Amino acid sequence: MRVAVIGGGWAGIAAAVELVDRGAAVTLIEAGRRLGGRARQADTPEGDLDNGQHLLLGAYTDCLALMRRVVARPEEKLQRLPLRLQDNRGFCLALPRLPAPLNLAWGLLAARGAGAGEKLRTALWMQGLKQRRFRLDHETSVSAWLDAAGQTGALRRHLWEPLCLAALNTPPQRASAQVFAHVLRDSLGSAAPGATDLLFPRGTLSDLLPDPATTWLASRGATLHTSRRVRHLEPGPTGGWRVDTEHFDRVIVAVAPQHLPGLLGERAQALGPLPEQFEPIGTVYFRYPPQVGLPFPLLGLQGGLGQWLVDRGRGVLAVSLSAHGDWEALPDPELARALHAEIVALIGPRPLPPWQVIREKRATFACTPGLPRCPQATALPDLWLAGDHCWADYPATLEGAVRSGLAAARLCCAGTPAAS
Ligand SMILES: Cc1cc2nc3c(=O)[nH]c(=O)nc-3n(C[C@H](O)[C@H](O)[C@H](O)COP(=O)(O)OP(=O)(O)OC[C@H]3O[C@@H](n4cnc5c(N)ncnc54)[C@H](O)[C@@H]3O)c2cc1C
Repeated sequence: MRVAVIGGGWAGIAAAVELVDRGAAVTLIEAGRRLGGRARQADTPEGDLDNGQHLLLGAYTDCLALMRRVVARPEEKLQRLPLRLQDNRGFCLALPRLPAPLNLAWGLLAARGAGAGEKLRTALWMQGLKQRRFRLDHETSVSAWLDAAGQTGALRRHLWEPLCLAALNTPPQRASAQVFAHVLRDSLGSAAPGATDLLFPRGTLSDLLPDPATTWLASRGATLHTSRRVRHLEPGPTGGWRVDTEHFDRVIVAVAPQHLPGLLGERAQALGPLPEQFEPIGTVYFRYPPQVGLPFPLLGLQGGLGQWLVDRGRGVLAVSLSAHGDWEALPDPELARALHAEIVALIGPRPLPPWQVIREKRATFACTPGLPRCPQATALPDLWLAGDHCWADYPATLEGAVRSGLAAARLCCAGTPAAS
């Protein structure tokens, strides 16, 4: 069976690996110069930055399992630390290495920057959510959900709202409470050991999966085309699909949702409603002297433009700016100067070091209440979808992208005996 996978982001990579393991003859076609899509090494002379700062969680089980399939020891490429959410205003929630839910109970009890009554209310709220398996009675915004739950104090400002913005890349006023509840279910609310751990890539995102997957796929006979954008996708005369000039029995389309109408034309309507609103992410990298660093590699920023500061090691600090905001209107040099001022307030006076601003205008779909999400199976014969937008449980994440790719590949192969 010949299968074309269109789009070589993490979803397309996952689909291609799964298809190869199931015996399909795979051709992976990617418009960019290398695999990885939105999660890859940026094109800079030093080659040590990503096109956006990313963070993984211990709960990313399918991502980690996929890495293990194509990389000998992926754990060595990630720094794994117990969850610690602290910010520049003195708030700190650190989870000890205890089994869940003791870790969260202890973390809440010992959290700095919130009163005892509020901590107790929050612990009871989480317990209630757990009993309802994190299913909400009705869909609403995260802000309205937190209001209704009486989550109105310091934990809301320092924990829930920054977490929502980071995880859903959508402000709490417009973010889906149900999807946020899924994120909580699989992280803070999960009993799985290490689910809440933070995983910091030691190198670039390309080292984690896209580059090893490129080698793995090529060594197993898959055909890889990079720097090639598919222009024409038409049903074949007797089934299958014509991808530009080549015929394939089946196709997995793993492009971002805004690219689907261009690729499928009117046939895209058969997929159902697609996300129409998107949110940007900005990442501003600073190269301070190598001895500059943070006591813990992640620090929340409040009261300025920046939202999270990540220590990438060797003096490289990254500031993340999620969703639409004032930062978008600032030209790069002004944005860098403003964020440098926020950083020197933490690390002491320093001259402005070399910096780099990377803006992803359509970083993720806006994860709003009740957003329709199309599944991997489509009404179009022999064609499946993959991509973060079609993994309904999660916001736009690496884990959602990978799960959707694996699921699309399994559906594509269903009923087809694996090659011996
Ligand atoms: C700045 C930033 C920070 C983020 N931070 C996090 C984070 O911390 N944690 C997390 O889990 N997630 C994060 N995300 C989200 C995560 O990166 C995405 O959810 C994930 O990479 C999406 O993968 P994908 O394969 O679904 O889509 P994409 O990565 O968009 O892949 C689609 C691919 O299709 C290709 N393509 C499009 N059209 C064609 C065509 N016609 N022919 C051939 N190829 C085509 C594109 O070039 C692209 O490579 C972040 C995203 C951004 C942008």
